[in-house]
Amino acid sequence: MKFPRVSPGWPVAVGLLVWLCTACDSVTAPELTEPCVSWCNTLAPWPHDGNPFQSETFTIYSDGVGHEVLAELAEIAEDVLADLKAQFQITADVALVLPPGQQKLHVYAYKYRYSAEWAARAFWGGMMIFSLDHPRLAEFTERGHYRRLVTHELVHALQNVLVGSTHSYSTHTWFEEGLAEVVSALDAERSIWTEAALDQRIAEFGEWNPIAIDNDILPDIENAGVQYFNPMFELTMRYALDDAGLGRSLRDVRDVFLDMRDGTSFSSAFAAMFGLSVADFHDQYFARIRAYLP
Ligand SMILES: [Zn+2]
Repeated sequence: MKFPRVSPGWPVAVGLLVWLCTACDSVTAPELTEPCVSWCNTLAPWPHDGNPFQSETFTIYSDGVGHEVLAELAEIAEDVLADLKAQFQITADVALVLPPGQQKLHVYAYKYRYSAEWAARAFWGGMMIFSLDHPRLAEFTERGHYRRLVTHELVHALQNVLVGSTHSYSTHTWFEEGLAEVVSALDAERSIWTEAALDQRIAEFGEWNPIAIDNDILPDIENAGVQYFNPMFELTMRYALDDAGLGRSLRDVRDVFLDMRDGTSFSSAFAAMFGLSVADFHDQYFARIRAYLP
């Protein structure tokens, strides 16, 4: 896999969007009576309006978003998913394992909520994301950007249905976030492309080894998530997939997840597919990355 330098020209990073405003006035939501479905086990067990939009692969629930808007989201999601299936070589013979009783991937598109914590998140069976007509988030719905955010979350969602259970949450943070970032180019303007840029980030935030971040918990340093860790995760997976690095492919990534479905631990599956143990990758990390970067 080759990695041309990309520049999406979007100035705001939103892996997890941090709102500038956390206490803005709220808009009035319609009364929601239908209980949550697949997203019940996430941090947001929101009810829905009982009027979901159906596309071939997705059921799109919402808190009162019109079907015209949901149709546009469905079109983006279908297109992104088809693209991801091609990239990961997920052919018809590779089963995607949804939660029991679920027939399609679920999306919950929200319009009347406003979170200080997150904009979009994936779970086993789908994802949650703000609607294209969210009144406060219109600036983030520039189509190229929204598509990249959908891509980032659908990479996570795809991982979960490849692993096929909550085992997916035992994938290491550096691997899954790096993968979602490298495939989506969501925060590409912050990517690290030279050793000088790496040194600059280390000078600002400290020399934290990303391979040590395996459980979603980041050191509590202001702005480090967006400015240091996400770019380091992206750099790590770019290295893993680049011909000039470990030279693996998204098909190998797919096979890591399928091995995990069969009960293999992430560390064992990674070592088998990438030819390097997680422990050695950790210990050799900065030497390898410095040798890789121009
Ligand atoms: Zn993510």
